[in-house]
Amino acid sequence: MKDKIPLIAQKIAESSRNVIFTGAGISTESGIPDYRSQGGIWDKFRPVYFDEFMSSKEARIEYWRQKTKLYYDLRQAEPNPAHMSIFELHNMGLLEAVITQNIDGLHQASGLPDEKVIELHGNTRRIRCMSCGKISSEDEAQKRVEAGDLAPECECGGYLKPDTISFGQAMPVAEVAKATELSQHCDFFMVVGSTLLVQPAASMPYYAKQGGAFLAIVNLSETPCDKMCDVLIQGKAGEVLTEIVSQIKQR
Ligand code: NAD
Repeated sequence: MKDKIPLIAQKIAESSRNVIFTGAGISTESGIPDYRSQGGIWDKFRPVYFDEFMSSKEARIEYWRQKTKLYYDLRQAEPNPAHMSIFELHNMGLLEAVITQNIDGLHQASGLPDEKVIELHGNTRRIRCMSCGKISSEDEAQKRVEAGDLAPECECGGYLKPDTISFGQAMPVAEVAKATELSQHCDFFMVVGSTLLVQPAASMPYYAKQGGAFLAIVNLSETPCDKMCDVLIQGKAGEVLTEIVSQIKQR
């Protein structure tokens, strides 16, 4: 790992368009489990598909039951050294954008401005009415659920759902277009904490590579892109990113 970090530090320092792509693995050190590792979220819950949510009250109740179990963990979670390192890159003028699959809002909590964070799967802190589109607060909806309104509805009668993308739900068009454009036109692209299994997010490293970018991956387990990347570090995001930023500062 020792010879790889200086190379990543050099590339970030010398590139003018640095894009970082993050997945659930960047937030495990903040105490939020990922989906696919052992002990991850899919070991505890079965996913509720979007069409089930829209067609069955029981499915909506199950969805909100799961959301309630995760609510307090997510609410208490704070940005960890990996999020803070990315924020430092921003402060050094070395960050074009973060593209994230995460719904936890921890990049913004680290201090990154909203316009630097492209959320491909939405944000659990916002609640959206599936009929009129009104956005409301998570805390308000959560209070209703805990008071016995197990599948809360909007005043218009529409179903309330956290503003995140469920399995089978359409991706947000503007965010996918922006992420694709950023990936195609960057000159350094680094994946942090993602299995790179979920589309269309998983295509972003390919767009970056096709566009001529240097591709780095920091992830604890294997990904389908390992063979095509320029540098692969199988390490913990917090430690690796802290060291990268420290080496950039020493240059
Ligand atoms: P994933 O669960 O499929 O994969 C996470 C990857 O991160 C794994 O390969 C794991 O080895 C690695 N990892 C775990 N801890 C790490 C660490 N400390 N340092 C480096 N790597 C680490 O997650 P994914 O690829 O992001 O895709 C799953 C979907 O899960 C996403 O769409 C996302 O919306 C959702 N999700 C989000 C959160 C969150 O917002 N924090 C949490 C769970 C799931």
